[in-house]
Amino acid sequence: MSRILIVEDEAHLADGLRFNLEAEGHAVDIESDGQKALDRLLADRDAYDAVVLDVMLPGKNGFTVVKELRGAGHYVPVLMLTARSRPADVLQGFEAGADDYLPKPFELQILLARLRGLLRRRQWMLQNQHEHEQLTFAGKTLDLEALELHVGDKAYQLTQMECDLLQYLVRNVGRPVSRKAILEDVWDLQEDTDTRAIDNFIVRLRRYLETDPTKPKHLLTIRGVGYKFVE
Ligand code: CA
Repeated sequence: MSRILIVEDEAHLADGLRFNLEAEGHAVDIESDGQKALDRLLADRDAYDAVVLDVMLPGKNGFTVVKELRGAGHYVPVLMLTARSRPADVLQGFEAGADDYLPKPFELQILLARLRGLLRRRQWMLQNQHEHEQLTFAGKTLDLEALELHVGDKAYQLTQMECDLLQYLVRNVGRPVSRKAILEDVWDLQEDTDTRAIDNFIVRLRRYLETDPTKPKHLLTIRGVGYKFVE
């Protein structure tokens, strides 16, 4: 059984989700206000195994909630509900620190499957502390299950999306990858999306990876193309 917090102010939607998640054997709470959801999550950090977070909320919107949550070092998996008509929302959600997203209106079965994915990942993380899949490059180790990047004796906690992007770039070592390829392959976005969000992600990853983030030696910008990872 997992404990799930649904943050959604549309009562019929929240109740429908609760009904179905409880039918799957989970314990579910509902919060309709962004600020209250944030307070609740920060008050007891182990209270929930996953959060389903809507963007449009009273009190504080979903982007701000997840951003402040991550800012406080709280890494509970967050599935964000975004507006289908606004792919930019998806990127904003990832930038803020969401782990996965689902555009509204969504199929219930898809939501349940995505949530199962997040919960399974968390279970692995909690149970197999010593058998994590790791990626080593340039003297750094990326732990793909704990979502941690180890640089020397420092460990950085990455969001799922930061981890996925870094993994993608590292697996394509030496090869330039376009922003479009990143959108499609990493985030499954095919729309014409504002790609500046990717640049913001790269800026963040450089802060973890580069000795001098203003003079990157690993995460290179390839003008007119995109990015390239070199060891
Ligand atoms: Ca809402």
